[in-house]
Amino acid sequence: MTQKVLAIDDSPEIHQLLKVRLKNLDVELSHAHCGLDGFDQALGTNPDLILLDVMMPDTSGFDVCRKLKATSETRNIPVIFLTGASDVDQKVLGFDVGAVDYIQKPFDSAELNARVRAALRTKRFQDMLAQRAMIDGLTGLWNRAHFDQRMHEEVAAAARYSRPMSLIMMDVDKFKNLNDSHGHPFGDEVLQAVGDVLQQTARTTDWPCRYGGEEFGLILRETDLDGAVVMAERVRASIEGLLLRNKSQMVPVTASFGVVATTLCMNPCDLSPQWIIESADRALYAAKESGRNRVCIAARQ
Ligand code: GH3
Ligand code: MG
Ligand code: MG
Repeated sequence: MTQKVLAIDDSPEIHQLLKVRLKNLDVELSHAHCGLDGFDQALGTNPDLILLDVMMPDTSGFDVCRKLKATSETRNIPVIFLTGASDVDQKVLGFDVGAVDYIQKPFDSAELNARVRAALRTKRFQDMLAQRAMIDGLTGLWNRAHFDQRMHEEVAAAARYSRPMSLIMMDVDKFKNLNDSHGHPFGDEVLQAVGDVLQQTARTTDWPCRYGGEEFGLILRETDLDGAVVMAERVRASIEGLLLRNKSQMVPVTASFGVVATTLCMNPCDLSPQWIIESADRALYAAKESGRNRVCIAARQ
């Protein structure tokens, strides 16, 4: 994927120069002409690298960098200072406020290229590690840490913009028996197959997660209760329809589902990740109690 570079500099000549000098790199270059606009653009477009001028009329590059590093959404964007000053103090200050590198003006074309490429290479690696830390090793779904973070963000967004979101909690039925009869490795295969069903059924705006053990959570953005129930029923039917075989023996697998939507919360003050998870869990428990392999809806409360 093409990486994005944001250049923040008050001089039009510098922007022109960067455009020419970075032309041979596979990057999408965008431009801000003052520090404040630069910060806003960084927040809005989440670039992979910022080239930041030190001396600008509205605010110094050092202050912009401090602000970028103090803001959670922009903290991990690497910053390279474009500095006209050659004294060591200025360079050291740049590193101290959080930059990864600096480039001395006037630029040497090859050096500029090399430093930008090095910073983008590190960013790509950093993104890959961050992504991997959020992935469940067995199923390839989002893991529990990511589930917790997503719930926090999605519930906050749903409350702020008064739009619905839903959660489906799902637990494989009688999984302990399955492990006992067919062995743990086969149990793992079943979890992978169940994970594949979730992956294939989810839309790009959904977050299929492994909550833990044989329990899964599907976070559905901008989805009301009816939509979530349709989705849960679709997953339930797909799991029931899986043709899983251990040696020559067919092994039936089913799962139970608890569904909750934010619209079921009567008091907006109660709305929290905890409320949603507990409500979905109670519905899941009801699905187990009433015979398993079914979808139950949380009570309005
Ligand atoms: P219920 O229908 O009530 O959900 O019954 P259950 O047997 O599925 O429920 P229980 O929670 O008692 O058992 C869950 C089992 O899942 C126990 C545990 O050993 C197994 N398990 C948890 N994580 C894994 C895993 O990663 N791989 C395998 N193979 N088994 C796992
Ligand atoms: Mg179970
Ligand atoms: Mg369980």
